[in-house]
Amino acid sequence: MSAIDTLPPLRDVIATHGLSARKSLGQNFLLDLNLTAKIARQAGDMTACDVLEIGPGPGGLTRGLLAEGARRVLCIEKDSRCLPALNEIAEAYPDRLTVIEGDALEVDPLAHLTPPIRIAANLPYNVGTELLVRWLTPPQWPPFWQSLTLMFQREVAERIVAQPGSKAYGRLAILAQWRADAKIVLQLPPGAFTPPPKVSSSVVHLDALPEPRFPADPAVLSHVVAAAFNQRRKMLRAALKGVVPQIEDVLNAAGIKPTERAEQVSLEGFCALAREVAKAKGK
Ligand code: SAM
Repeated sequence: MSAIDTLPPLRDVIATHGLSARKSLGQNFLLDLNLTAKIARQAGDMTACDVLEIGPGPGGLTRGLLAEGARRVLCIEKDSRCLPALNEIAEAYPDRLTVIEGDALEVDPLAHLTPPIRIAANLPYNVGTELLVRWLTPPQWPPFWQSLTLMFQREVAERIVAQPGSKAYGRLAILAQWRADAKIVLQLPPGAFTPPPKVSSSVVHLDALPEPRFPADPAVLSHVVAAAFNQRRKMLRAALKGVVPQIEDVLNAAGIKPTERAEQVSLEGFCALAREVAKAKGK
């Protein structure tokens, strides 16, 4: 019998430990272990990796990650009610699971992890985007993680993988695709969760690139992209006029028509624009 078979079904775990879902903590649990194993497999080969999981809850995905062979799993969970259930899993997998009670936005996991590191999580929706943006903007690149396998509301997942010309295309797509290969690998209906959320969900997998896809200064790129999409309906010559006075020349030098709108500009185009803006500012 493998370790996972010694553990009680997740529905029993929830009943035993009184884990009624709390909306304030974004608690929508995955109780189907076939599904959590399938999500864990999307993370790739974990046998030589430490895996960071945010928000394990009763531990459905945690079980999947361990059963699929993760070398070690480090969990950060804010809800102390989940700790007894997670400790049961830690006992079934000696020396492979560490649980930290705390807020993922405040805890620094690095002291507890040995590279190579993958991150996998059914994220609490209230903090998911903030964590993703942090993971995509570390002080140095490459980041501490090799890959991210993350559950998001479908609308957020679509913003991460969006291409130019679509409504979903914006800052998140540019940030994610500049630093990583990003794809949606699974779609889940509300009924896959207990309780079911109002919206559908998607699992996004991101592989870190060894270096950003096109050269650009991160601060300048972020400034230009923010300015362009803050006024996404305006032509770029108007939306970006506060960035540098000679914006039309700078856009032309970057190969972008001043009459285009942010939505039409590719990631490569934004990186070229960031380089021209930096040049115009004498950076
Ligand atoms: N991974 C579990 C699953 O798939 O069944 C639970 C997922 S549930 C969507 C989100 C989990 O994140 C909950 O267990 C919740 O308590 C936890 N959580 C919410 N905010 C958190 C935070 N700031 N830091 C760490 N965990 C958090």
